[in-house]
Amino acid sequence: MDKSVDACTNFYDYANGAWRAANPIPASMERWSRRWAAGEQNKDQLKTILEETSQRHDWAANSVEQQISDFYGSCMDEKRINAAGAKPLAPIFAEIDAIHDSASLQKTITHLHDLNVFTPFGSTSSPDNHNPTDVVGRIFASGLGMPDRDYYLKTEKRFVEARAKYREHLVKMFQLAGYSKDAAKKASDTVFAFETRLAKSHLDNVQLRDPAATDHKYMVKTLQVMTPHFNWNQYLQRTGINVTELAVDQPLFMEAVEHELVATPLSDWRTYLKWSVLNTAAPFLSDKFVKQDFEFYQAYLRGAKEMKPRWKRCVEAEDNLLGEALGRKYVERYFPPEAKARMQEMVKNLLSAMGDTIRGLDWMTPATKQRALEKLATFNPKVGYPDKWKDYSSVHITPDSYFANVLEGIRYGIADDRSQIGKPVDRGRWGMTPPTSDAYYNPLLNEIVFPAGILQPPAFDVNAVDAVNYGAIGVVIGHEISHGFDDQGAQYDAQGRLNNWWTPEDLKAFQARTACVVDQFENYFIEPGIHHNGKLVLGESIGDLGGAKIAHLAFQKAQQQHPAPTLDGFTPEQQFFIAWGQFRGDATRPETMRMMVQGDPHPIAKYRVIGPLSNLPAFAQAFGCAADSAMVRPAAKRCEVW
Ligand SMILES: [Zn+2]
Repeated sequence: MDKSVDACTNFYDYANGAWRAANPIPASMERWSRRWAAGEQNKDQLKTILEETSQRHDWAANSVEQQISDFYGSCMDEKRINAAGAKPLAPIFAEIDAIHDSASLQKTITHLHDLNVFTPFGSTSSPDNHNPTDVVGRIFASGLGMPDRDYYLKTEKRFVEARAKYREHLVKMFQLAGYSKDAAKKASDTVFAFETRLAKSHLDNVQLRDPAATDHKYMVKTLQVMTPHFNWNQYLQRTGINVTELAVDQPLFMEAVEHELVATPLSDWRTYLKWSVLNTAAPFLSDKFVKQDFEFYQAYLRGAKEMKPRWKRCVEAEDNLLGEALGRKYVERYFPPEAKARMQEMVKNLLSAMGDTIRGLDWMTPATKQRALEKLATFNPKVGYPDKWKDYSSVHITPDSYFANVLEGIRYGIADDRSQIGKPVDRGRWGMTPPTSDAYYNPLLNEIVFPAGILQPPAFDVNAVDAVNYGAIGVVIGHEISHGFDDQGAQYDAQGRLNNWWTPEDLKAFQARTACVVDQFENYFIEPGIHHNGKLVLGESIGDLGGAKIAHLAFQKAQQQHPAPTLDGFTPEQQFFIAWGQFRGDATRPETMRMMVQGDPHPIAKYRVIGPLSNLPAFAQAFGCAADSAMVRPAAKRCEVW
């Protein structure tokens, strides 16, 4: 804490300013706090598991132990990877070079989808928006090497600069792939022009948050009429997706793809597809590729000063590709059952606090309250790890080739995802791996999910006082619950259907309340001229605001049963808010803040601390803040949604 700062003036600095001053962001990181440090510590634990497993060489073939240790060993074999250079790409490039007509182009695009190269569009499984007990195939817009359409089209200086840097990056990558300088420059121009045309048909980040904007379903034969130059039946046959209808996120984008299929010369397509492969494969190739990829995506765009050590990149790749194989070992060793029990109890208390809040709302009619409570009753909390693990027995991992292992992991992930399409939804599946230090809400399944990786200090500690647990993980639980009732979540009903359950007058009152939050964040600047996009961060900010309120209510209830003592002069109420400030208030590099303000629905850390607390009377009361303090929004501007 930095006690030289007044809690009522700047709670972000007060709660953890001294920690940030004493713990600068490590060179390889973009953000840093005790919470991020804990996330990195999970990777140390995974490393311990992998190194111990690698001591033995007699694991049964295709056992989880053989797979995770050979994957790790092949990734750590830097010499062999560097010696191979760009060679692992040769078979894929040969296929692209052989594209000679529309049929071979389409076939190659389909093959690239098998390898996670989703370009210019992709396909995935998803519960049906209107019947979420069924899984449908979903076609989504993709194909851009920069984060979103604005990077290609906006005229502000930072986007113009990013375009120049991106073009340099394209040239360097093509040179690494063996192109001469002139050929690389030409290829870069081709790719950049192609992606710019695609970008024009992409929805922007705010439009993408509107569920209705991406809610389109077509009979395959209708889609065939819309995009006559892509043979959908053949695509479905080749990918093994057996459906007669497809959800299409962005139909206008698919029309743009249709146009490219007709108007763009095959030679340009070949160049573009090669870039897409290079871009996806770079982190798994030799050092030169890894470094150039880092220079643009991590160093330039996010401000990282150096690459993470090789072992950590290997752990991250393995978590990504064989996540539940490795995660199973992780929870056996590092996730105590008592943590799960305590967490389940807290979730129950938070859900009950949300119920009290809904019943007590003065702006909502009983009819809508009834619906909101019905939705609350169907929430499905998941804690720690899946009850049923994925079966990796078909995955063939060898010690010999890292790139082949990566492809094998990718193929497994794609096949596993596609296998769900056309079936009833499997509620046992998880969207994050167990060691992940994060949490999520899925509106279609109405589930809140907390992997084992986040259930440790500073978020959660079985031995900590209630104030600290409710102030940190309690607010996270409250945040995920509130997502079920944010500007997006509130459009999904108790069964997870995209279906309006609001009376018109209640919806109007809700929207007036959310407009207050939009306005609050529009006025939060990260530097002169760059402020939050209130509509982009609305859902997360409703989550933080509602989360802090209901976690505080649940904490007060817990206090009645086990009154907490004052510690180091801080009342239990103060401890609660300090825990939140310390959990959320990380240091963030300016480049990463710019990226976040542009495309991340989460506000930056400072405003995630200041924003919700300055709306909460309980906070002002806990610290005795005067009504005109910076941390207290004037009554007329105070936001409260839930
Ligand atoms: Zn969230």
